[in-house]
Amino acid sequence: MAGWIEVISQVRRPQLGEEVPLLVFRAFRVFTGIYLEEIVGDKGASTLIQKAGRELGKEVGSMLKDEKLEAYLGKVVDFVKDAKIGLLVPVELTEERLVVALDECITCSGMPDIGKRICHFEAGFVAGIVESHVKRRVRTYESKCNASGDHICEVVVEMNHA
Ligand SMILES: [Zn+2]
Repeated sequence: MAGWIEVISQVRRPQLGEEVPLLVFRAFRVFTGIYLEEIVGDKGASTLIQKAGRELGKEVGSMLKDEKLEAYLGKVVDFVKDAKIGLLVPVELTEERLVVALDECITCSGMPDIGKRICHFEAGFVAGIVESHVKRRVRTYESKCNASGDHICEVVVEMNHA
């Protein structure tokens, strides 16, 4: 997926500009997700969406790269806030696990409980960010989501279980 950020960042919308309402983003996200579930099933859809997020995370990770983990994570937190994806809060960091909360999540914050977690893209994104730094595959899942009745979005990355 290398080079895609460069391609899609070229915007020519002299009257409308670069911002869109959050509802438009969520409509794209959720309608695509629902349709994918119909076609390939829940598991297939979440895997595909997570994979896409992972690729983006790797791209962004290579843009923000820093040898020192703390500095790198700091840049990631700033990026996620500046891009208005959410407020990333590291919860736990050990050799085995990284847990991050995503407050004000772009996708699920404020949503009612629909009985399932929907932020597979964000989970993949965090995994890609980590993979870009540790240079190996990691496993990830969304452990909390506003859409499943939690009051925050949270992602777990398991470092040694690819
Ligand atoms: Zn969520």
